[in-house]
Amino acid sequence: LASRDFHPENTVISIGDVNIGGGDLVVMGGPCAVESPEQIDEIASLVKAAGGQVLRGGAFKPRTGPYSFQGVGVEGLVMMAEAGKKHGLLTITEVMTPEYVDVCAEYADILQVGTRNMQNFDLLRKLGTCGKPVLLKRGFSATYDEFLNAAEYILAGGNPNVMLCERGIRTFETYTRNTLDLSAIPVLQSLSHLPVISDPSHGTGRRELVEPMTKASVAAGADGLIIEMHTDPDNSMTGDGVQSLFPDQFAALLRDLEKLAPLV
Ligand code: PEP
Ligand code: MN
Repeated sequence: LASRDFHPENTVISIGDVNIGGGDLVVMGGPCAVESPEQIDEIASLVKAAGGQVLRGGAFKPRTGPYSFQGVGVEGLVMMAEAGKKHGLLTITEVMTPEYVDVCAEYADILQVGTRNMQNFDLLRKLGTCGKPVLLKRGFSATYDEFLNAAEYILAGGNPNVMLCERGIRTFETYTRNTLDLSAIPVLQSLSHLPVISDPSHGTGRRELVEPMTKASVAAGADGLIIEMHTDPDNSMTGDGVQSLFPDQFAALLRDLEKLAPLV
């Protein structure tokens, strides 16, 4: 079902007046984690003002260690839904377990599967019937074939609205957190009809690389971007402050993107 051989036309995922995969560039921006109502409200206003269409933020965080901040949970879903509604943005949030799919689908417009859960097949099956579009992140050691097979689980479950997200893979390089695999963008677009989103934040792990790798992703043909932005990155509640743009950098980047590709 994911293959272009059996579905030659691009899949366009329409949510409200935002079309993902239809030729317009879609920008999803926001913090790694929802921290408080004030934090997500302020960031939502900045994403909207900069021209973004989707507010990102994790209420459930897949942390490497069990003692790290794990997210604010269901309350975070409520905070983000309110901020999205108030500022006219769609919302995307990560769901980590099948049990939480229904509540995440109730509050968010798009459900995100994180890199660590790309092959959580019970979760993927459950997302097949969730009724909401899914952004599936590539596992950090997954081949294109494994990635497309993971998407296949969601599609086979009855959900045609899947977007693929390149978020960097693990290589021998340690200067960057991950290596953003730009080739994934044209390769996945040729093998599949699903929209391809790039995540230059997790793909590099370094704030100063987000701008050039965002532009490179657009040049490579990405259908959209998911970018971390925080009003106070140095004091953010996850370690991802180091890769989060300041609001003025985010706004400047989107102004530059307007020159490369029309924003929705
Ligand atoms: C995130 O988007 O904050 C995240 C945890 O991403 P990934 O699953 O790509 O690490
Ligand atoms: Mn993050």
